Amino acid sequence: MDLGLNGRTALVGGASSGLGRASAEWLASEGCRLAIWARGGEALERVAADLRSRYETEVSVIAADAADPEAAPRVAEAALAVLGWVDVLVLNAGGPPPVDPTATDRAGWNRAFQLLAITPIELATLLLPGMRERRWGRIVAILSSGVRQPIPELVYSNAGRSALAAWMKTAARAVASDGVTINGVLPGRIQTPRIESLDQARAERVGEPIERIRSESIASIPAGRYGRPEELGSLVAYLCSEQAGYQTGTFTAVDGGLINALP
Ligand code: NAD
Repeated sequence: MDLGLNGRTALVGGASSGLGRASAEWLASEGCRLAIWARGGEALERVAADLRSRYETEVSVIAADAADPEAAPRVAEAALAVLGWVDVLVLNAGGPPPVDPTATDRAGWNRAFQLLAITPIELATLLLPGMRERRWGRIVAILSSGVRQPIPELVYSNAGRSALAAWMKTAARAVASDGVTINGVLPGRIQTPRIESLDQARAERVGEPIERIRSESIASIPAGRYGRPEELGSLVAYLCSEQAGYQTGTFTAVDGGLINALP
């Protein structure tokens, strides 16, 4: 299926690894011109070079830390400078650390909300006016299954992403008649460095080998395995497509059946 994205411009966060990278790859394969961002460094440059050579498309790199209050205006300005305009915005960056929910602190909340809610909301807010003027835009946020079913050791994530989801649901209605859609995807457990580090942290916390932690975790997933990043990236690309123009304000799980809740 041709997703109608050829020649569109896309700004993708957290694209040096995992789910952001897989989303960038799908969009590049559909012919988007890309700006990808993360905290910078070799991994990001490597992904850009790889996408340029495999898909013969333009891929620019922007370095910024999503936990920095100045990140959103910097990323928006840099993206507009290299792309000219932004049609597709994929909101994504790293996740906060696991923590005992009864032992959180102010610094942790400030960082988590900046990373997971304030920076993405500000970035979307800066880029929405151009999308509305052109009467076409797609915003997709990579959230978490924790938005629907809180994950015990990830309270910063559960709460920060829920704030972003609430903004998305509200804003989606405000911009729907301008041809702009806003949707979220909810990964369950997809095999990336983030899941590896969470399994490692749990193994250290409970004093068990990581293999055991991993097999217990997999046993809780009806599909009986962790997901592959491209299985989420393909949904992100679809939500950005021409065909998905009537889908907005939705949150779709990609979780192998992990979330045991309606709908
Ligand atoms: P990952 O570690 O593979 O990739 C994270 C990406 O974000 C990398 O490009 C990294 O450089 C970038 N990044 C990290 N901190 C950043 C910061 N402060 N500013 C800018 N960029 C930053 O992880 P992933 O699995 O691809 O996860 C992507 C997002 O999805 C994370 O927020 C993660 O918590 C969330 N998530 C992942 C899963 C999963 O199953 N993998 C499940 C639920 C939620």
